[in-house]
Amino acid sequence: MFVRQTYDNKQQLIFSLSLKATREKFHFKTKHSNKNRYEVHCEIENCSWRLYAKRLDPTDEFEIKTFNNVHTCSSLQIHPNHKHVNKKVMGTILHEIMGKTRSKVWSPNEISRDLNAFLEINVDYKQAWRAKQYAMELLLGSSEECFAKLPIYFHNLKRHNPGIVPYIQTDYEDSFECCFYAIESMGAFKGTILHAVAMDGNYQILPLAHGICKKESGLTWTWFLEKLYECVGDCQELTFVTDRADAIRVSIENVFPHAHHGLLVKAYKRNVFEELWYRFSSTRPQVAAYLSAIPRAK
Ligand SMILES: [Zn+2]
Repeated sequence: MFVRQTYDNKQQLIFSLSLKATREKFHFKTKHSNKNRYEVHCEIENCSWRLYAKRLDPTDEFEIKTFNNVHTCSSLQIHPNHKHVNKKVMGTILHEIMGKTRSKVWSPNEISRDLNAFLEINVDYKQAWRAKQYAMELLLGSSEECFAKLPIYFHNLKRHNPGIVPYIQTDYEDSFECCFYAIESMGAFKGTILHAVAMDGNYQILPLAHGICKKESGLTWTWFLEKLYECVGDCQELTFVTDRADAIRVSIENVFPHAHHGLLVKAYKRNVFEELWYRFSSTRPQVAAYLSAIPRAK
């Protein structure tokens, strides 16, 4: 921020000041604020840091008229509850960090931990979640903007891939209701389809990625997982659940060394199931008791 710098309006100026104060760990307080002028100084008494801005009549723009950016206080005090922090300020800082480290799964808990460490302020889970939503909006556009792109995306998808069957259902006001698309042509490649799906906090399954390869092997799984890595990154909280194909195990160990790998075991024959169930119940009786409530036929 500097003298003669202009802002679209007073809110923009206050936002920039809040961002600066959060980054530089000081608090400011308002001396004068009305529709024509905005004057703030450092919250610590007798400190010489101050800023004065004026509206450029007849516009809404505000221009910095005087700015003393030097603190004579010992301003770098730790403010665990920083009063200028809000979702936009945190989201903007987060957006910059996310832009640099795109390949990372970042949960609100981690965001809260990292922002606490980075800014030395207390950010709880809820604040971190809101900041993440705002940062994602800055990165990807709002969900309204994304939905608005859906018709043209489907139109082009169909134009270039005649096998794809897309539908968008709208209501009487032409607003989005639901959509459907089937990737019919995938089967036509006569290869092996590789899928990655995720489970969210509500135990809902959502598709992440799919690919087609000539045949399932260590090489193809590694290639597929490397592409997945570019999207989600690696972290210790990440867990893979797969079947017992050895090719997958080795590929996960190579591409996602920090991730946990669990197995999903399938028994298609009754006698195989009984045998596995017997072994399972003797090692995990509590889990077996829980699962026993589910009808066997399921
Ligand atoms: Zn100061």
